[in-house]
Amino acid sequence: MNVHPLPPSALKGEGMTSQRARDRLATKLKEEGIRDQRVIDVIRNTPRHHFIDQALHSRAYENTALPIGHGQTISQPWVVARMTEALLEFGVPQKVLEIGTGSGYQAVVLAQVVPQVYTVERIEELLRQARRRFRQLGLTNIRSRHDDGKLGWPDEAPFDAIILTAAGDAIPHAVLDQLSPTGVLVAPVGSPSNQMLIRMRGDGQGDFIQEELAAVSFVPLLGGIG
Ligand code: SAH
Repeated sequence: MNVHPLPPSALKGEGMTSQRARDRLATKLKEEGIRDQRVIDVIRNTPRHHFIDQALHSRAYENTALPIGHGQTISQPWVVARMTEALLEFGVPQKVLEIGTGSGYQAVVLAQVVPQVYTVERIEELLRQARRRFRQLGLTNIRSRHDDGKLGWPDEAPFDAIILTAAGDAIPHAVLDQLSPTGVLVAPVGSPSNQMLIRMRGDGQGDFIQEELAAVSFVPLLGGIG
């Protein structure tokens, strides 16, 4: 069961935004290898259409990334599910930092399965819209900040888990420094044409165990604020 379920009123919708559409998406994610039932349940119970423009509502439960303005995208549901599953695999992290709030969808998925989410976005307008969605969904365990996420969120560090939803050539040092010694970090790394989702786990001695999880395609991790 979810730690923080959304209110049932959040799930109203008809046709392409109905519960049936979400159920179909959840089934598809299972077929495509997502194993963690907590993650499947959260995707099934999160109204993705609230995170995109009305003109795209008919595509909200397709397994694709979609534009959210400012040249950015809401991630593909399979990628959101895989990243969330990868963060939960060794136990539920208490404090999670997300870099790249975007629409707020990934943060809302996380906020239903972990106690506390911190999320940083460099484009103020996107953050404003995401905050409105957090409020409307009644989630009080997400803190958000308008800043360059390459700096992490030093005042709140360390984090048990960190997720980057934009891709750079490498994980910024400041971000890695804010991971707890046995924490888990999941991020896309590489160029737009050659990106890999990686997971790093602290071994408690200051070293990391690194794994490649999947080939992915994310928008770039930029510097400064927008
Ligand atoms: N997690 C988002 C995905 C958004 S796309 C969702 O569920 O919708 C990636 C986001 O990362 C974009 O909104 C982009 O503006 C943001 N981003 C890119 N570089 C960043 C940086 N240095 N700091 C903070 N946010 C950044």
